Amino acid sequence: EAMARNITAKDFQAPYKELAPFSDIIRTQHMEILAAAKDRQDFTANVSHELKTPLTAISGYAELLAANMVAPEQKMHFYHEIQKCAARLLRLINDIIRLAELDRSEREPLFNEVDLAEIVEESLNTLQLNAEQHKIKLNLQLEKCIVHGNREMLKELVDNLVVNAIFYNSPGGYVLIKVGTDKGRQQLLVKDNGIGIPATEQGKIFQRFYRVDKSRSKATGGTGLGLAIVKHIVELHSAEIILDSTPGVGTSFTIVFSC
Ligand code: ADP
Repeated sequence: EAMARNITAKDFQAPYKELAPFSDIIRTQHMEILAAAKDRQDFTANVSHELKTPLTAISGYAELLAANMVAPEQKMHFYHEIQKCAARLLRLINDIIRLAELDRSEREPLFNEVDLAEIVEESLNTLQLNAEQHKIKLNLQLEKCIVHGNREMLKELVDNLVVNAIFYNSPGGYVLIKVGTDKGRQQLLVKDNGIGIPATEQGKIFQRFYRVDKSRSKATGGTGLGLAIVKHIVELHSAEIILDSTPGVGTSFTIVFSC
């Protein structure tokens, strides 16, 4: 029933007199259910908004073209805008589907012993090309590093972190990918000397659709879902993320495994 109506701040302050004898446990459980429902509502609202924006643009451009209201020299620009918006929609939908899949994922049946260094090496050609296009130098320090995990998910994790490190950077910058074991724990480090993330934003960037600078993100059509996907994958692996970032200096994400 909590799902059916709008969850408001008031719900979180409900009096629990009648539940007093058990209040702590029940209250905590109740809060968790409400928070999950609220989260779902926010997500649905965000999805609708994010999908509507490019779709509205596409239908506006198409309408003008169909009505022959666009000057010949302007037409190409309109076609390109339609193409860009359609590509953005596709990326959004792919990421949303991916998050839904991860939500349903179960840990064990999909997990194997995998070498993190090998996973990085397999993605290297694509990442290298991407780095070259942005005039970023990729540095590698890879040691064999076996974790209990899912190959596809770990590949996705590396891709998302490295693509961000390349993109939120400036020409001439670097990205370091380091894989190895430290104090008996397997680690993946992705470090850049890019634009960095202000301290006040660091807690928010793993939220779905959250972007520090929407205009910058829009230039490449970031969906704001990449780090939400990363967080999900990390949780499924019972690993943890350590974020260290200073604006104007750079950012590092360390994923620490314990298996
Ligand atoms: P996006 O599609 O916008 O890149 P993400 O979920 O991958 O979405 O990242 C969320 C936000 O976190 C980005 O919009 C950006 O503001 C910030 N961010 C992520 N990685 C980095 C990084 N390496 N350096 C600086 N900012 C970053």
